[in-house]
Amino acid sequence: MVVLERGELTGGSTFHAAGLVGQLRSSVELTRINMASVELYRRLLEETGRDPGWKGVGSLRVASSPARLAEMADRERWARRFGLHLELVGAREARERFPLMTDASLEGALWLPSDGHVDPAGLANALADGAKGRGVKFLTGARVVAITVKGGRVAGVVAESGPIACEVVVNAAGIWAAEVGRMVGLGIPVVPMAHQYLVTAPIDGVRRDFPVMRDPDRLVYFREEVGGLVVGGFERRPEAWGLDGIPGDFTHRLLPPDWERFAPLMEGAIARVPALAGATAIRLVNGPEAYTPDGEFILGEAPKVGGFFVAAGFCAHGIAGAGGVGKVMAAWILDGRPPMDLRRMDVRRFGPDGREPPRAAADAIRVYATYYDIREVTVR
Ligand SMILES: Cc1cc2nc3c(=O)[nH]c(=O)nc-3n(C[C@H](O)[C@H](O)[C@H](O)COP(=O)(O)OP(=O)(O)OC[C@H]3O[C@@H](n4cnc5c(N)ncnc54)[C@H](O)[C@@H]3O)c2cc1C
Repeated sequence: MVVLERGELTGGSTFHAAGLVGQLRSSVELTRINMASVELYRRLLEETGRDPGWKGVGSLRVASSPARLAEMADRERWARRFGLHLELVGAREARERFPLMTDASLEGALWLPSDGHVDPAGLANALADGAKGRGVKFLTGARVVAITVKGGRVAGVVAESGPIACEVVVNAAGIWAAEVGRMVGLGIPVVPMAHQYLVTAPIDGVRRDFPVMRDPDRLVYFREEVGGLVVGGFERRPEAWGLDGIPGDFTHRLLPPDWERFAPLMEGAIARVPALAGATAIRLVNGPEAYTPDGEFILGEAPKVGGFFVAAGFCAHGIAGAGGVGKVMAAWILDGRPPMDLRRMDVRRFGPDGREPPRAAADAIRVYATYYDIREVTVR
């Protein structure tokens, strides 16, 4: 098996991810995928000798409205049925775990002790080391420029470094997945969306063992970093980027910070953690991430090209999903079918032509803007 990377490993969205790893999602399948990730990240250091920077500090999802608290009570009952341990706790316990949060309109919180955060580049390198130890070759500076198809099946790839014959290709090209899909005539509706988070200098009272905290009513999330906080979120007026094509030299690069777009999130963040008002901002990270028109991953085999698989469109939770996605994709390729019901994430849901780009972009923007809205959980 060979991994071809056009730049250096992590040079796409991975190097600038915030590293939150949350397991609770709105479908059983996605929750199970993320649970498999945590199970893997916990043992990666021991297994590979490379530290992925996993911090199993738990997470708090706080309710700042009665409607959110009701949603959380539903989720607690739902998730317990398939083995995800979580607990609905009162405002006092939430504040004991994250003392910098105010109790203003704090109705309670979901406490997930097995969640955490990870260093995204450390994780990618630990996964790569594990794969190398099992015989996988990595070629960097090896951009794929064409894919050879014979008799309706993949026959090889052409990289700048030369051609390679193969029976299976996995398109895991992040925001470039649409470009790689076009090499076999497959429309893959990934839309690069600009996502931002702020990193602060150390703040008095922040402890290294602070759990990740999300306040979905205020559209924001928080985690500890070197005694300060990482603060990000999903604004109501998000921005797509690179719709006319991604610049050829865009690798290990960020977008310019957009303080104006971040301002409403900062306001929500300060309302929950007032100490942020006096904190020193070190940087505002703005990076593109592959979104999809329905907010679900894009996984599986192309409808008309046998052996061409897709694993992309991770909608701002590709770090949380990576371990589990690797597991389900491996099973899908080996067995010819996914190991669980993944219809909601199947690349075939868009048809062979994908979705017309302007419509895909409009849908992705709407999905991003409503990321933290109250949702009913799906039970299959
Ligand atoms: C600011 C920000 C914060 C985020 N925070 C979180 C978070 O807290 N938690 C979380 O779970 N997720 C988070 N994400 C999302 C996460 O970063 C992504 O979901 C994840 O990194 C996607 O990984 P990937 O491997 O699919 O894509 P990428 O990391 O983009 O990797 C794709 C790779 O494919 C290579 N490539 C592309 N085209 C070719 C080609 N033709 N030939 C060879 N190689 C090619 C690229 O160079 C790139 O390295 C965040 C995203 C952003 C932007």
